[in-house]
Amino acid sequence: MKSEYYQFNLGDFECVSLLDGRFNYPLEAFFTNVPKEQLAETLRQHDLSTTQIATPYTCLFVNAGRHKVIIDTGAGNLGKAAEEIFPGLDHSTTFTGYLIQSMEAAGIDPADIDTVIFTHAHPDHIGGTLDGDGNPVFTNASYFIANSEWMFWTSDNAVEQTDPVFVDFARQNLHPVQDRLNLIEDGAEIVPGIQAIATPGHTPGHIALSISSNGHSLLHAADIVLYPLHLEHPDWLPAFDMSPKEAAISKRRIFDRAAEEKILVFAHHFPPFPNLGYVVKNRSGWQWQPIRPQS
Ligand SMILES: [Zn+2]
Repeated sequence: MKSEYYQFNLGDFECVSLLDGRFNYPLEAFFTNVPKEQLAETLRQHDLSTTQIATPYTCLFVNAGRHKVIIDTGAGNLGKAAEEIFPGLDHSTTFTGYLIQSMEAAGIDPADIDTVIFTHAHPDHIGGTLDGDGNPVFTNASYFIANSEWMFWTSDNAVEQTDPVFVDFARQNLHPVQDRLNLIEDGAEIVPGIQAIATPGHTPGHIALSISSNGHSLLHAADIVLYPLHLEHPDWLPAFDMSPKEAAISKRRIFDRAAEEKILVFAHHFPPFPNLGYVVKNRSGWQWQPIRPQS
């Protein structure tokens, strides 16, 4: 099934995990510095494919009472270019751009969304911002992104520091909503109960989100780590982290807290859908303990 949703309550908030798509990646994109044999052995131990990495792209809806919030807009059409982006993989299970269908299946009207939060400006998080005509999909929303993220992607030297395709993509998708875009700092309360946590590394202005209602909390970790194996092996680095040094600090900050306080965690790319679970501390890092809801 391509459109998928999972509803859960967080205090007085109603949350829904919404599947935008799935994408398959080459091993070397996710693990740049792991000896091949060691990686293959670890993947086998986890009953995972040893030829490619499969990840969900999952957005989070929060009905926060006065505000209806969507966190990230998915990848839009990106999945159609999968063969071009990563040639030679099995892309039969890659697809993107199903966020709106998943919302409709869950009974959420895109016109009711008043707040769009971007965790960062990579294509799989902002690609569903505009429709086919270049107009904003969420017509009644205010948009939020970290000030440092906006400054980076719009800066003259962005193309020297990351893939120019990403830079074009970010500008094309964010400029049309620029007049409704709010630039936020670390700790900003975006709407009551949803707070930005600066977690740079993956990108310069990457944010996680602390979502709290009536004594219940969720940490939206976005792309601080891309895959559960990155939690178990915090020194295994993906190709997409712009500053591994800063990313290492962000990982400690968020996942030590999540483990200590036993907070429910959501991460955009963490299988299995609905991307929810807990982390527990282990020797080298943390262990992902996914919630597997009965369907
Ligand atoms: Zn991502």
